[in-house]
This record gives sequence, structure tokens and C-alpha cells, in this order.
Amino acid sequence: MREYSFMVNGKQVSSSQTFEIKNPATGASLGHAPISSANDVAEAVAAAKAAQPGWAAKSDEERKGLLMQVAQVLTEHTEYLAQWITQEQGKPMAGPGSMFEMQACVGWTQVPASLDLPVETVFEDDTRSDKLYRKPIGVIGAIAPWNWPLMIAIWQVIPSLRAGNTVVLKPSEYTPIGTLEMVRLMNTVLPAGVLNTVSGDGSVGALLVENPDVDKIMFTGSERTARKIIEASKGNMARLTLECGGNDPAIILPGTDIASKAGDLFWGAFINMGQTCACAKRLYVHENDYDSVVDTLKGMAEQMPMGNGMEEGIVLGPVQNEMQFNKVKELVDDAKANGASIIRGGTPMDGPGYFYPITLVGDVDNGTRLVDEEQFGPVLPIIKYSNVEEAIAKANDTETGLGASVWGDDLEAAAQVAARIESGTVWINQHGAIHPMVPFGGVKASGYGLEFGLEGLKAVTRPLVISTKKPAPVEA
Ligand code: NAD
Repeated sequence: MREYSFMVNGKQVSSSQTFEIKNPATGASLGHAPISSANDVAEAVAAAKAAQPGWAAKSDEERKGLLMQVAQVLTEHTEYLAQWITQEQGKPMAGPGSMFEMQACVGWTQVPASLDLPVETVFEDDTRSDKLYRKPIGVIGAIAPWNWPLMIAIWQVIPSLRAGNTVVLKPSEYTPIGTLEMVRLMNTVLPAGVLNTVSGDGSVGALLVENPDVDKIMFTGSERTARKIIEASKGNMARLTLECGGNDPAIILPGTDIASKAGDLFWGAFINMGQTCACAKRLYVHENDYDSVVDTLKGMAEQMPMGNGMEEGIVLGPVQNEMQFNKVKELVDDAKANGASIIRGGTPMDGPGYFYPITLVGDVDNGTRLVDEEQFGPVLPIIKYSNVEEAIAKANDTETGLGASVWGDDLEAAAQVAARIESGTVWINQHGAIHPMVPFGGVKASGYGLEFGLEGLKAVTRPLVISTKKPAPVEA
């Protein structure tokens, strides 16, 4: 079985220590991923540090041009990399699956590559002129999760490179090979040392986070790991962007025509089998509309073929790993034990593979684990409400605040409800509709810092103010 390598200073590095990666749909072995040693991590950071001044010294036009070449490489290898995503992560090639993830990788490369952060004159009068410049921070440590493994790595890497930083990226130990392969291909056009990888579990991530030469960490993953990274950053004062999970509420306003919005609602909850940070994870429905919303979602679920995502026509894949599969089972069983009704699904499917059906759960409320915790799987609790104030209060009754959505035919009324939700983004009549120009980030325990667009680019720079005293006017 093939062994894969990580990338340090433009060279592929293999390791005597490896771990096996299996396809979550079939259990078949896909190959062995390397485990980077402490020395490997130190060398990767040293390579990034050595390459950084030269990369930062390139003109904006040169860096933009090289990143556009990266977009071209990703386009040329879309199918190869999408196959890795499907085999390692589980999302199907079709539907909003791995080809879609690769299109996002290309888009989230082209857009930051074309952005500029011009020098701002922040104050000017007869006596002084104050200009704000944006400089690269230095070496960025990027730590990625397993749910959208290539796309989220791109979100971290490309703005960092655009701004003149260099990067050491660690993919998740659940989905490393596709990302290692993507970075190998990106290195065919990037200068050596500009984009490096290390590979392994959280202990390898911890080595990267603690390294004194890492200036900023871009992290996407669980709140638990984010708290460890905050602790570790005490040592090197690394700046942090933390994109943690969420428990996004979706509120359907009374009397909304849901049939016309059914596709957006279904995929807003179930894209990538619900293993998406900003998916609808709790649905609040007015009691008069409950039956029609349930029938609509049930009808959609019945039409969606589930299976091995390498097969044609499949649009729903497995849950990615055993830990997540068990968590989904546990939360559904707990809801059942506490009086919930299972509208659809609710029982794991026979193996091989971690297949769990699209599951709709009724007769639940805040206070049940399935509603209060992030399930990160193909299960949606549907909660009845009798007035909108109650729905808003329940939506906000959570520790996290990544995304949320409000669904309604009166857009003004929907916007008024949206303004009262405590989260980084509130979508109206869509959910999880991220865009490379639109800032994205969480509040509360969902983390801090923004990604995407100009705000995201600013977040991978350090400000430099140059303040100049003007000479006094010469008396005539
Ligand atoms: P995780 O926290 O277990 O792992 C994420 C990454 O952190 C992995 O690469 C892991 O190896 C690494 N890691 C673990 N311990 C570490 C340590 N001590 N120091 C440094 N790195 C360490 O998360 P996960 O299970 O891979 O991802 C799922 C979670 O991510 C969910 O909560 C989900 O909502 C969240 N998520 C958030 C976003 C977002 O943009 N906000 C996007 C996707 C996923």
C-alpha cells in the first residue's frame, strides 16, 4: 500500500512512522500517511521562516500571478483531488460533494489572489499625515479539520500567502492524504519553503502551535482544541484566528411558503451529512406549519440516494469516522430515551461503512442534548414554537454563535428577526451560503477572527502606522 509524504522546503519527506487511512464508505485501506517527528515540524517552520522575506519581497503582482497559477493547477487536478476527498472524507463526487468542494478551492484561491489592501490615509491635516500599511505577519501555522479538508485548508493558506506570509499546514489525521497531495501539486508552481506541510494527530499540531517561530495560528476545528491552542499561544504570543463549531438555529417564520425553499433548507441542514460547521442544526417551526415542514423535509430525504460516493447518482455519503458515528447514535438514543419521536431514520444502517440515515426528530426542545449540543451529523431536531419571541429566545440559548438562518416571505420581517440573533452570520432564506468576498466568523464559543474578503485578508497582516509631522508653513 502506497505511503504518502509531507512537504518541507519544496521537497517531499517520508517518515518511518505512518498510519493507515481507510475509506469511511467501504472500510478499504487507502494508503499510509506519514507522522512528522518533532524535528520534521521544526524543519518545516524553519523552512517557512527562511522563505518568508523573499516571498514578502515579491511584488503584489508577482504573488497574485503565482496564486492564479495555483488556481490553474487545482483546476487541472480537480478530478484527482475530488476522488481523494470522496474516498477519504466520504462526501460523494456528485451533488454538493467533492467536485463542489474542489470548485470552492479554485474560487477561494482566485478571489483572495485578486484582492488588494491599499495604504489607507487614516488622518491628515495641516500638521500631520498618518498612513496605515498592511505588512505580512511572518510564519502562519494552519490547522485544518476533516469535514471539508481541502477547502478549509485553502481558506487558511491562500489569504496568508497573498499577504506575503509563508505557511506550515497540518491536515486532520482523519483526512490527510488528499491535502498532502494538493500541497504537493501546489508546490509545482510555488517557490520552495513558501507552503509546507506536516502530518499526524493533535500532538503534531501541538508542536506546530508551540513553535516560537510561528507568528499566527489559523485554526478550524473543535472548541476543545481551540482552548488548548489559546493556552499554547501564551508561550509564543501567536495571533489566533479560531473557527470552532456551532449549533446553528434556523427559524421558519409563521406562514412561510416552505415548498419554494425546500432545497435550500434541506441542504442547509444536511450538506456533507450535517458535518459542516455552519449547517442548520436545530429547526424552529411554528406549530401551525409543523406538519407541512416535516412532510416537505421527509419527502426531500426520501429522494436522496445514499451510498459510496464514487458511484454515479449518489448524493449522500457516510459519516466520516467512528467517533462521529457513535456521537450521532448517542445523541439520537438520548433524545429517544427522553421522549422524542423519530419522524424518519434514527437507526444506523448495516455496514460496511459508517452509514446513518437522514434523521428527523420531533417532540424535542431545548434542554435535550440533541438540541443543546452540536450533533455534526445527519440528524435534525425540529422544535415547535407558538410565538416568534419564544423562537428567538431558544435560538439564542446556546454557548456558540457561528451561523443562523431566518426563513420567511416578508424579507423585512425576516431581517428584523435576524438582527436579534447572536451569531457571526444570519442568512435569510438560505443557510451556510458562504462566499469568498463575504467575511465569515463566529461569536461566543464559536471562536474569533474573520476569514474571507478584505476582512479575512487584513486578519493575516499586521498593521504598520507611519505618522509624519508636516513642516510648519514658512512665513512670507
Ligand atoms: P479537532 O479540534 O478534533 O481537530 C482539528 C485539528 O486540530 C486537527 O488537525 C487536529 O489534529 C488538530 N489538533 C488536535 N489537538 C491539537 C492541539 N492540541 N494542538 C494543535 N492542533 C491540534 O476538530 P475536528 O473534529 O477535526 O473538526 C470538527 C469540528 O470543527 C466541529 O466542531 C466543527 O463544527 C468545527 N468546524 C468549524 C468550522 C468553522 O469554520 N468554524 C469549519 C469546519 C469545522
